[in-house]
Amino acid sequence: MQNVRLTKTDFLIAKDCNKNAWLKLHKPDIYKAKPLTDFDKNIIETGNEIDELARQLFPDGALVENRDDIELTKKLISEHTSVIYQPVFSTNEYMAVADIIVWNDTQNAYDLYEVKSSTAGSDGEGRRTNEYVIDLAFQKKVIEMLGVPVNSYNLVRLNKEYVRGAELSIPDLFTIEDLSEEVDKVMADIASQMAGVREYLLKEDEPAGYCDCIYKTKGNHCTTSWYSLHELPEYSVHRISRIHKTKLSAFVESETLDIQALSYEQIETLSDIQQKQVNVAQSGKVEFDEEEITKFLDQLEYPLAFIDYETYPSAIPRFLGYKPYQQIPFQFSLHVIEKPGGEMVHTDFLHTDNTNPDESFLEALQVNLPASGSILVWNQRFEKGINQQLAERNPAYSQFVENVNGRVIDLIEPFDGNKAAYWHPDFMGKSSIKYVLPALVPDMSYKELLVQDGGMAADTWNRIVTGQFSEEEAQKHINGLREYCSLDTLAMVKIWEVLVQTVS
Ligand code: SF4
Repeated sequence: MQNVRLTKTDFLIAKDCNKNAWLKLHKPDIYKAKPLTDFDKNIIETGNEIDELARQLFPDGALVENRDDIELTKKLISEHTSVIYQPVFSTNEYMAVADIIVWNDTQNAYDLYEVKSSTAGSDGEGRRTNEYVIDLAFQKKVIEMLGVPVNSYNLVRLNKEYVRGAELSIPDLFTIEDLSEEVDKVMADIASQMAGVREYLLKEDEPAGYCDCIYKTKGNHCTTSWYSLHELPEYSVHRISRIHKTKLSAFVESETLDIQALSYEQIETLSDIQQKQVNVAQSGKVEFDEEEITKFLDQLEYPLAFIDYETYPSAIPRFLGYKPYQQIPFQFSLHVIEKPGGEMVHTDFLHTDNTNPDESFLEALQVNLPASGSILVWNQRFEKGINQQLAERNPAYSQFVENVNGRVIDLIEPFDGNKAAYWHPDFMGKSSIKYVLPALVPDMSYKELLVQDGGMAADTWNRIVTGQFSEEEAQKHINGLREYCSLDTLAMVKIWEVLVQTVS
């Protein structure tokens, strides 16, 4: 590779992992082998939409449409164009595209604004803030090399406190923070970091040795780990639930990567729950605590209602009373068993247009949920939280929601964390229904469905209500959503039946 013009995007990828950035440049087929899901694409589209909305804070700007149009940027800057969107700054070695620059007459220089779709800012998660500061510092370094006068470096992000009224208020939707001081603090190091990354990326030969992620748990591996960590067995020690990195490192150092190969002494260093996971994996046999499962089942009161919600996290609040990223509950599926040995009855709700579903959702809940008995969900924090938000936006339903939340029982409990009472080798340390269901009810699966997970359900709903499908396609996807959500609650019924059979 003769010349690498290091872009800000690649620099930020390399800040996370040099090897991953190297693969992106030198082995793009591997880097892109896992195609973006519709949900990933939706995140990108949302980011673009937010970029465009933020431009309304600084209207009437000139847009540099092509990402390599250095000449147009130069021309616009030399004319002191008051607002420029997407200006391109480039030297022989580095390239950065800013989001917005605005001419500041008082300072005789531009103010730069970096737009992020996140709600986290300097008051938010430290890692995020640091990322934004580094992002701005990269831009500042390139701009300084070019001698363009810039007065301040700012972050524009979504305001997490904003509650939408009848109309969307752009000034209230965004928060602007001047991060110039934070950026200055990292400037001393940024040039050497940029040069270091560039030098690494210029190497023709693939970096040798283990990927650093060999010391990280499965959930922290990147999208190219299937290639870089191909030596890992399917059920490796990285899948041990909540394993501490010092223990993981000890196993890796002793070259024990397969969970099956852990010795008695090694297993003894783990917590009780982790030991249980490993023992079940090694024996290949199901284990359960009859007393605890009985206790769990005895608290359930008929009628039993198994319910599951699907929601869409709209970054830009779409309806009255919503905040950025607040979940829009657009669908539920409900299976009810009235009495022991009784028939199972299914009902559902799906909102299919781009209007606020709150009231119809609550009404449908009120009509279909039994007035008494237990309400079973999988991971109660989610459904209870959605109910709570629904009540805050619709106070007339507060009492109803309080009653519903008071009857919720979490079916995940016998499979999760400290309260776990049922262990199966195929759970692989997970308690998600996507792991529990195929292990307990092998003939039921999500594999053949049009909609296969919650992310896909959210994206599908958004595409239906925003008119991105033909009428025929929309109907097909409406059916797909119904099938998916009803399988979620039917799965819960089947899992409950397995628990009942286990102790009867
Ligand atoms: S698996 Fe980890 S170390 Fe390897 S390329 Fe991915 S992020 Fe980097």
